[in-house]
Amino acid sequence: MRMRIQKTFEALFALEEIRELFRTSLPTGFDLEEEAAFHRQIAELRTIVADLEAGTGSPRVAKIAGTIDLRTREEQFINIQPIQAAGRLTVEARKALISYGDGYSTCDACRKPFRLDKISKPGIAEFHEDLAKFVNMDQARVVPGARRGFQAVTGTLVEKGDSVIVSALAHYTEFLAVENAGGIVREVPLNENNIVTADATAQKIEKVEWETGKLPALMMIDHFDYQFANEHDIAGIGKVARQYDIPFLYNGAYTVGIRPVDGKKIGADFVVGSGHKSMASVAPSGVLATTDEWAAKVFRTTAMVGDLTSRMFGIKEVEMLGCTLMGGTLLSMMASFPAVKARTLKWDDEVKNSNYFIDRLLKIAGSKVLSEYPRKHTLTKVDTTGSFDTVARTHKRRGFYFSDELSSRGIVGEFAGATRTWKLNTYGLNERKIRYLADAFAEIAEKYEIPVAP
Ligand SMILES: *Cc1c(COP(=O)(O)O)cnc(C)c1O
Repeated sequence: MRMRIQKTFEALFALEEIRELFRTSLPTGFDLEEEAAFHRQIAELRTIVADLEAGTGSPRVAKIAGTIDLRTREEQFINIQPIQAAGRLTVEARKALISYGDGYSTCDACRKPFRLDKISKPGIAEFHEDLAKFVNMDQARVVPGARRGFQAVTGTLVEKGDSVIVSALAHYTEFLAVENAGGIVREVPLNENNIVTADATAQKIEKVEWETGKLPALMMIDHFDYQFANEHDIAGIGKVARQYDIPFLYNGAYTVGIRPVDGKKIGADFVVGSGHKSMASVAPSGVLATTDEWAAKVFRTTAMVGDLTSRMFGIKEVEMLGCTLMGGTLLSMMASFPAVKARTLKWDDEVKNSNYFIDRLLKIAGSKVLSEYPRKHTLTKVDTTGSFDTVARTHKRRGFYFSDELSSRGIVGEFAGATRTWKLNTYGLNERKIRYLADAFAEIAEKYEIPVAP
């Protein structure tokens, strides 16, 4: 690891040690011993900072709590890991995490009626309103991951034995959310281009009604799926949902937070997004937004009464189990939000970068792209069976030669050892990094005498 990165972490940790002195001392200030410890630690910090500036010294901290490695992947490398790219924290989110890392840190100024989304200091209530506007819906709640958003909706709408329409590329968490509610998934088949169309969706609905005598209780469709990141006909599917009067959940795990999403225009009854996948937030975080009409149902409040004590918890929402993200997760989401809003307006640049990289990859003889092309997303499934895999077949490191070559150039996140079909995500890489990435792939190809077109 570059010594300056190591020393940056050591300096941050040294400051946390100093912070700990404030936490263990009396509110009136340090006693003599604490004062001495403080000066000792400041001196240590100065040494670290001197090493940081000069890039000198040797690593003094190898582990956290004796067992946990430092995670420096985002500082040391270009990370093209498919699910990590847009969940990388902004610097403001990292500050929020430092500041609000303590357990129930959101609850300092929680006042009656005691619910997370009503807290105004910090501005959590306002953030909820902003979130709803951001995806053009009426109301929103933060949830611990997109999956918990699906679960709140299936828990509300799906009865035992009900059918739920999903796509043949649906994420496993959609299956599980349906299963958890006692429902049955019914998958819409893909067309020859691996796209879910409105027609295919309507046909599947007809088929389900024919077979079960009932319309599906819910439709959950991904705008961009997790396997190819192909764009599905979400607006057309929204219309179909209207025609059959089936509630429609728009799965924006790979859209909300990276490109504009307009829930009303799509005709969605629910919009679900993932904080840790696409909103530069700490896991587990996400958003569930809905219309006023559906909010009354999916955000219904408790009616339960204790049989001994007659206690009731009036305003607590059943599907949210009261409160959801009560600490650093939510504050990281809030701190990233201004940057997240702004970056959705630059989505075209991200797509351009994605296509630049894929075009360069396709110049390496034998390489293919399995996702729709040209790309409309930064996540792409590629097939390098005809290029990089030809080397793996005889290399003593097999497919790992490719990971070795990439990591020696400071690139990580491809599935280690995979040289046939694999996914990568270029989200958030600036033009310099995109060029560097494309050059690195071309260089590796040339090194192993795979032809590269000019
Ligand atoms: C990642 C992903 C999910 C799950 O998101 P979480 O926020 O981790 O629950 C759901 N659906 C799709 C399409 C995804 O890509």
